[in-house]
Order: sequence, then C-alpha cells, then structure tokens
Amino acid sequence: MTLKEHRFSIPRRIVQFISFVFINYVILEFIFSINLNSLDPFVKALPILAAPENPLSKGAGFAEYLFYSIAEGEFPFLLLGILILIILFSNRFFCGWICPIGTIQDVLSSFPTRKKKVNIETHKTLLNLKYLIVILLLFIIVPLGLTKITDEAFYKDYKNALGDIARNPVGYFSLSEYLFVFFPQLVEEMFEKENIEPLFTEFAVFVMFAFYLIVLIVAVYYPRVYCSYICPFGAICAAISDYSFLKLSRNPVRCVGRADCGICERVCPKQIRILDEPFEFFTGNGECNLCVKCMESCPYNAIELRFG
Ligand code: SF4
Ligand code: SF4
Repeated sequence: MTLKEHRFSIPRRIVQFISFVFINYVILEFIFSINLNSLDPFVKALPILAAPENPLSKGAGFAEYLFYSIAEGEFPFLLLGILILIILFSNRFFCGWICPIGTIQDVLSSFPTRKKKVNIETHKTLLNLKYLIVILLLFIIVPLGLTKITDEAFYKDYKNALGDIARNPVGYFSLSEYLFVFFPQLVEEMFEKENIEPLFTEFAVFVMFAFYLIVLIVAVYYPRVYCSYICPFGAICAAISDYSFLKLSRNPVRCVGRADCGICERVCPKQIRILDEPFEFFTGNGECNLCVKCMESCPYNAIELRFG
C-alpha cells in the first residue's frame, strides 16, 4: 500500500498513540519517574474513559461518572449535555480516534491472524447486548438515586445490598475499569503476596478476570468486539450518533456495488453493511466510529465525510 492509501490510518494511529499516552499519563510518570500533575486540568476537561488519575472519572471514565452521579441522586445534566454536544459535532470520532480501549482493540486486531466476522443475524442480535446492559444498570441505580432524595433509610439499605454496583455502577461492564484499575490492583496484590491467591479470593474477581481475558483474545480475531457488543459508553454514543451533523455518505454514481467491489464492507471493523445503508448519510445504526477505513480503502473515492 502507498502512503496515499494510508492517508487516514497513519494520522489516526498517531492520534491514538498520543491520546493513549496523554490520557494515561501515569504511564509516563511511572517510566520516567516524573510528576505530571500539571496535566490534570486538561485531562479533566476531556470526556475520557480511562484516566486513573482523573478524579472526575471516579476511577475509570466519563460513562462511569454519569452512572455514578445518577446513583448518588444527582442527575448529570452538565456532563450529559457536553457529551451530546460532542457527539452532535464530531459523532463517534472519540471512539475511533481517541478511546484507549478502542486503541488496545485495534492493536490486538492488528496481529497477523485471519479476521473473522460474526454471522450477520447473530451480529444484529448481539449489538443489542450493550443497550440491555445500560437499561439494566439504569433499572438498578435510578431507584437508588431517587431514594437518596426521598427516603434516606431505604437508600442506605438498598445501597448496602447493591455493594460494588452502587459504588461503581459500570465497573463490571467496563473494560477500561478492568484494564486500568482492577487488573493493576490485582497484579500489585499478587506481587505483595508473592502468589496468585488474590485471583481466587472472590468468585466475582475470578469471573471478571476470565471474562475480560476472553474478550481480549476474541478481539484479536473480531475487531472492536467490546465496542460493538458490551461497551456502555458505546451504547450511549450509538443512541445519539444518528442525529450528528458529521456523517459519512456514499456517492451512488461512483460506487460500483457489492458484486464488483464491496471492499468498504470487508474492511469495516464494525461489520456495517455500508451498501445497505442510505447513501446520503450513514452511521450503521450509530455503530460507525469514523475510523474512515472504508473511505480510505474505496478505490473509487465514493465515500466521503459530510457535515450538515
Ligand atoms: S469500496 Fe467504494 S466502490 Fe467499492 S463498494 Fe464500497 S463504496 Fe462502492
Ligand atoms: S463505516 Fe467506515 S468509518 Fe464507520 S466504522 Fe466502518 S469502516 Fe469505519
């Protein structure tokens, strides 16, 4: 492939790398033994998923804080408003170009293995899983938030009964929580005790470890599998994405169709049936993360980004 054929993927990789290091600047602090606390104000201003140093994230990220606020009886109007505005103006650019979890999945899927696609009907069914997770979480934590305002005694009992879910509602469903908070803590504990016993002390800990290990292995063969089926932040973004001003479009005059080409669909990591989408604007039901691989790979320059 020529440089021209990588005209978007090279800048995207650079942005992903810089974002990853910037968001997780604790890595730099660790490697170079330096203090980068002055970066805090910038990091706090970003709708990020994984900055362990970021107090706004309560440990793991933006979606986590949205749910945490609801559980505390404080509806996050401001954060939700910021998120809606970001998606309206930049669609899911964040997911495709900045999110560290997306970057990790892209690195895993770049291993030279034969990529697979989920059967289309199964894929459509599995896409709903992330919405179910969000609905389930809201179903659990909205009453918690409401009772904090209306019935303090019931709130305390309910919160105790919910345990970890009340403290960190997205925790069990967040790969960023697992990779950037849970896993480092677990490894630290193992080092301290000089054995792997901490992995087996709680059933939930072991299940989480095994589940996300499987997700990471599956991501080698099925690109962006976590984003597509599990990520609660992805579900919120997908629900708003169709209303964004920034979308892809396909020129039906230039496009030669699936039978003669179909490259765009083959390279799409989100398995979007681009040629079945409306040509004026498409988001694949909010799944498109604007990685622009389809646009870059189209031999007829039939796909373009449009604003409006
Ligand atoms: S890669 Fe371009 S020409 Fe080929 S099917 Fe897709 S949009 Fe059409
Ligand atoms: S439709 Fe294009 S830009 Fe969107 S996820 Fe698929 S390849 Fe990336």
